[in-house]
Amino acid sequence: MGLGTGQGLHYETAERLSAALASRTICSVELVESLLGRARTIDGKLRAFIALDGADALRQAVESDRRRERGAALGPLDGVAVSIKDNMSVRRWPMSCGSRMLDGYVSPYDCHVVERLRAAGAIIFGRTNMDEFAMGSSTENSAFFGTANPWDLGRVPGGSSGGSACAVAAGLAPLALGTDTGGSVRQPAAFCAAVGLKPTYGRVSRYGVTAFASSLDQVGPMGRSVWDVAALLGAIAGLDRRDSTSSPLAVPDYTVALGRERRWKIAVPREVFSDGLDGDVRDGLRRAVDFFAGAGCEILDVSMPAMDISIGAYYITATAEAFSNLSRFDGIRYGHRSKVAGTVGEVYAKSRGEGFGAEVKRRIMLGAFVLSGGYHEAYYGRAQRARVHISNGFGEIFRNCDFIATPTAPTVPFPVGAKTQDPLAMYLSDIYTVSVNLVGLPAISVCCGFSPQGLPMGLQLIAKPFHEEELLAAAAFFERNHDFCRRHPKIDQ
Ligand code: GLN
Repeated sequence: MGLGTGQGLHYETAERLSAALASRTICSVELVESLLGRARTIDGKLRAFIALDGADALRQAVESDRRRERGAALGPLDGVAVSIKDNMSVRRWPMSCGSRMLDGYVSPYDCHVVERLRAAGAIIFGRTNMDEFAMGSSTENSAFFGTANPWDLGRVPGGSSGGSACAVAAGLAPLALGTDTGGSVRQPAAFCAAVGLKPTYGRVSRYGVTAFASSLDQVGPMGRSVWDVAALLGAIAGLDRRDSTSSPLAVPDYTVALGRERRWKIAVPREVFSDGLDGDVRDGLRRAVDFFAGAGCEILDVSMPAMDISIGAYYITATAEAFSNLSRFDGIRYGHRSKVAGTVGEVYAKSRGEGFGAEVKRRIMLGAFVLSGGYHEAYYGRAQRARVHISNGFGEIFRNCDFIATPTAPTVPFPVGAKTQDPLAMYLSDIYTVSVNLVGLPAISVCCGFSPQGLPMGLQLIAKPFHEEELLAAAAFFERNHDFCRRHPKIDQ
């Protein structure tokens, strides 16, 4: 089928766009104009973008087309649009982190991943909406507005990278970057039927990405196919001396190994089938596991008793680190400054009081508490020991298998407002994702079906550190044998 026949270019994968750009069937300006047109028609109801500077995107596209004309394309992503979560610095662009705190802030430099995307010729395309400072699972904590789920506008797109997931799923951009501290790439990918990957800790530099919880944060690629995510990971991964946790391991071409088919050994922790797991999602996971079994993979029934302590360990670790990282937003060093304050103490207190939203304040207070004298050992110290315990649990399981399979989230996308009054219920949407960050492992979410009401659900595959190639190959194998990634939401009617 010809590219974009009858329906524009918006649902084309980056893989097909890349081929069409290379053969000069389309040019980047054409692609960017088509995406901008799409945003004008549907982003009013979805609100995936906090801002989308069309003139800037077109300027980049013109340059990309000139490179193609000269035969000097920078690689497969040259001319392909990538949307950026609004907690990553893009030179001369405002960056809000979904917060009023950063009103008026303009980034003076590009973060590492944006530098890498520019070096690959990609078009930096719009700032996507997010939960304030990446704290949340529904994008409802954005200080500006919520983002709709393209499959059902009355439901959330997941979070905190909900804008990026929505943009990809709705055909507003072929690719997007999110950040994943406890699931914020994988869970919104699952809620929107996109593919989302959280790389091994250290695989992608965090330089220039606003820190939430530094020992957990990773930037992750999102797309509508596994190939697209593999290509985007290849573009952003690699050593960067400005992030001391960045790994020197060589970066392979992740798209090369995607055809690999093995009889993988896949472990399924029985703890995932707990009370909180929605029936439709449970059936989706079972079908996915049966598929792998039918393809000759060995399925292992394992126990991961540490799963129930992971939410506690995560929320203590994440809030403690956020408390420290967010102390720089005080109205003096960084961030909104209150106009009503007199003394220095008042400047701090009032600026933070006015600038931060309720969830961020809750996390800062929790972080202060778990680190405070007298409670430090009981909470923070214990959470760190729990982390070691969880890590040992994974190590044990991985001695005997290639991947661990779980649902990405325990439910399908929930209705807007359903969990905003109950932070603990919201935190539980991360039950399957947070332990991966606590241990620094790579994990991917691919769509593994739809509920009877047509709502997407995700399969999460977790691998050993730096086994992204194998992880992507297994996800691509699953994708090839299902038609989920060819389904698109009906937002146009
Ligand atoms: N939902 C989790 C939280 O609120 C994870 C967020 C994230 O990964 N940025 O902390």
